[in-house]
Amino acid sequence: MIDPALPYAEQLRRRADRMATTCVHAGETPDEDGALDVPIVLSSAFAFTSADQAARAFRGEEDAWIYGRWGNPTVRALEEKLAALEGAEAACATASGMAAIAGVVLSTCEAGDHVVAPRSMYAESARLLRERLPKLGITTTFVDGTAAAYAAAMTDKTRILYVETPSNPTLGVVDIAAIVKLAQSAKAPRPLVVVDGTFATPFAQSPVDLGADLVVHSMTKGISGHGDVIGGAVAGPRELVDRARELVVKGFGGVLSPLAAWLVLRGLRTFALRQERSCATAEAIARHLASHPKIAVVHHPSLPSHPGHALAQRQMHAYGALLSFELAGDDALARGRKTLEALRVATHAVSLGDTRTLVVHPASTTHSTMPEETRRLAGIGDGLLRMSCGLESADDLIADLDRALEAAGT
Ligand code: PLP
Repeated sequence: MIDPALPYAEQLRRRADRMATTCVHAGETPDEDGALDVPIVLSSAFAFTSADQAARAFRGEEDAWIYGRWGNPTVRALEEKLAALEGAEAACATASGMAAIAGVVLSTCEAGDHVVAPRSMYAESARLLRERLPKLGITTTFVDGTAAAYAAAMTDKTRILYVETPSNPTLGVVDIAAIVKLAQSAKAPRPLVVVDGTFATPFAQSPVDLGADLVVHSMTKGISGHGDVIGGAVAGPRELVDRARELVVKGFGGVLSPLAAWLVLRGLRTFALRQERSCATAEAIARHLASHPKIAVVHHPSLPSHPGHALAQRQMHAYGALLSFELAGDDALARGRKTLEALRVATHAVSLGDTRTLVVHPASTTHSTMPEETRRLAGIGDGLLRMSCGLESADDLIADLDRALEAAGT
């Protein structure tokens, strides 16, 4: 879906153009006062018009607002916009990305069930599967990201083939269509294919079009885009989305607040524009660092040297706004830390998908809860730095990196 014969900037412009109207208008209609902006409805409960209407609403015979944990107009508007952007029938907003992921797994699996997941993934998702869910009898086999490895790990108890692509923080690319084929060839009940699309965002990837059952997002990241909110989402067929909603939002209380929903809605109106710029910057920085003498390896699917390059061209609309890179030499860890401290334009902080460019050292921060051996198998070396490109000038960011790498010594 990325045409190597067309300049990348032109492809990004076309993708942004395709999404721009949906970003602005989907899910939003003027209210009865004519207010253009979706109101922030902060009421926790909603008045009934009669005893009969209350009873009908509780029996589910009438689509009425009842209580904020069961539904809210501001949150609903966000869910509709997100479903439209994802090309999904429905979406459910959750209190965080982790609430969405836990909700999907727990609403699909019970004691005795099994998940297959990639080794290279966000550390807290890995910890959920490795440490927390086995206490409930749900086990996971971690594999490298190939379809063959998923196939070898599947059992008749496998209920989820979990995919994170591109993966955090090594930008590994998993073949979604191949994993979908595997699920389709399994004996009933066939496992669900769940894709964490946080790194790609709906700008760079459409897992539902590739046959995935559910997409989960941390809306904290590129979807909200301004680093001012924590939120998550599940998107897919209404039946599966509602099953996750029943458990995680209604049952466990992982509800997104209306104020947070409004911030994400506002962020989404400029989503395509922001992603177009951030993806272009990531590609420019990856290209620059790939020939930098102080850098041993750059992980970004745009680079022909990246093992997932051809696959990314087939399954993505853009290569994404994140990259990671490893410093060359024996003392890569110490120099990586010095580099972080010498940055002046990019910000040394966790998270990603912000207007600001954020750089972090995963081994000592975001992925420090992974056992060392697992971390190494996942390709997360001591010298690896992850960069999420924001909206600053690409030239300023490249100059900042060059200066910081120089200051960190050889
Ligand atoms: N998935 C990925 C790929 C992430 O990077 C993160 C957080 O960094 C999450 C899920 C969890 O999202 P949240 O922090 O919103 O719970």
